[in-house]
Amino acid sequence: MERETIAAISTGMTNSGIGIVRISGEEAFPAADRIFRGREKVSDVKSHTIHYGHIYDGEEEIDQVLVMAMRAPHTYTGEDTIEINCHGGTFVVRRVLETVLKNGVRPAEPGEFTKRAFLNGKMDLSQAEAVSDLITSRNEYARKSSISQLKGSVKNRINDIRNEIIYHTAFIESALDDPEHISVDGYGDTLKTAAEKIVSELDRLILSSDDGRIMREGIQTVILGKPNAGKSSLLNVLMGYDRAIVTEIAGTTRDALEEQIHLKGLSLNIIDTAGIRQTEDIVEKMGVDKAKDYARNADLVIYVVDASEELDEDDDKILDLIRDKKVIILLNKSDLKTVVDVDKMRERIRTVWINDKNADLSEIPVIEISAKEEQGISELEKTVEKMFLKGSISFNDEVYITNARQKSALTDARESMKKVIGSIENGMPEDFYSIDLMDAYEALGRITGDSVGEDLINEIFSKFCMGK
Ligand code: GDP
Repeated sequence: MERETIAAISTGMTNSGIGIVRISGEEAFPAADRIFRGREKVSDVKSHTIHYGHIYDGEEEIDQVLVMAMRAPHTYTGEDTIEINCHGGTFVVRRVLETVLKNGVRPAEPGEFTKRAFLNGKMDLSQAEAVSDLITSRNEYARKSSISQLKGSVKNRINDIRNEIIYHTAFIESALDDPEHISVDGYGDTLKTAAEKIVSELDRLILSSDDGRIMREGIQTVILGKPNAGKSSLLNVLMGYDRAIVTEIAGTTRDALEEQIHLKGLSLNIIDTAGIRQTEDIVEKMGVDKAKDYARNADLVIYVVDASEELDEDDDKILDLIRDKKVIILLNKSDLKTVVDVDKMRERIRTVWINDKNADLSEIPVIEISAKEEQGISELEKTVEKMFLKGSISFNDEVYITNARQKSALTDARESMKKVIGSIENGMPEDFYSIDLMDAYEALGRITGDSVGEDLINEIFSKFCMGK
């Protein structure tokens, strides 16, 4: 195991009040002694205390700081740790780091502190990943599911299942070793019941991952509609609604900007197709193919209709585009005299989606709103929640899987457990089940990190931010 002492800047790289340089490893205290001048030597102070003083690079005073001294093993990494709180100017913090690095310490890789925490047994892999998820969380659901995973919800649930699997495997193995004293007669039934319970538990976790992704990443949303339907008015209302926080982030799927709107705890990542803001016809401006492309990649299409005008063939074009999508249709301008109502809209959909006779159109939400008077917005909000979260979300005892890697491990474990059940049903010999049981055990170990190779570990932590 690596024992070099590492250091990095743990705070953001903008000028701010305080910046933190973190050092972890056996050389942390000796290095601090060499560069810190205060009332006491850092290596003489009690663990988990804070000390005022100055950082010196040779005889050059660099900054006025507070030093936090924390001895192993009760630290984040499990190693001796020093955190230097210095002034948060990007230059000053970097200068302090440089000084540290001249003293037997090397720069940390991204995520290396957390990687050490994992390797030193301070947390399992699911908790380590939760750290990164918490840092990147952008809404309440993402934050809640990350903090619950960090506290060990996923780890505990997976370990419970693994323990049960290993118990049955051990029983079968010992029975095979010692058939005179341990009988496997009738054990198939016991195991089958247990395996079925495990499969349904895995099913539940796998299902939760759909909600998990939406919670974590937000709902990719496209707003479509003809010019003047009220798309930008709607966007403005949504932004101002419920003190929503609006953040501009680079689009994940393409170079288009996304605007993120938070409704209750969910995020709508509104893909700012050029058309929305400039009150131009998105279909005309970008061409049908491009619009189709946006719509195809979206989790949700919000189709805004000016209900004070008759529907025309442009509406049919849009309807045609979105026939396979999750759609919410908003009949806007309900404050005016309207000519399109919910029934008329549904009738129009029926005509356009002629091939989908069986589709239950009553399932498609059509909501009358007024962007101008801010009417109908809470119904829109409720509809979005109902469409995207199956059941109400409580984080008290529910475990949510938000991570694609974890989902695939769960799916593999489920496959193996299904094979166990199949073997029992077909009356196969016991050593058959134990192979599949061990496969399931291994697959689940990929979540906790018990059965992952070094390459994967490195890959996972390399995606962390610097200094964590
Ligand atoms: P966009 O082209 O789809 O983005 O439409 P805009 O949001 O720019 O709205 C077009 C026009 O319709 C503007 O003059 C808005 O003030 C008006 N408008 C938008 N929503 C409503 C509404 O709910 N009621 C009324 N009466 N006018 C609206």
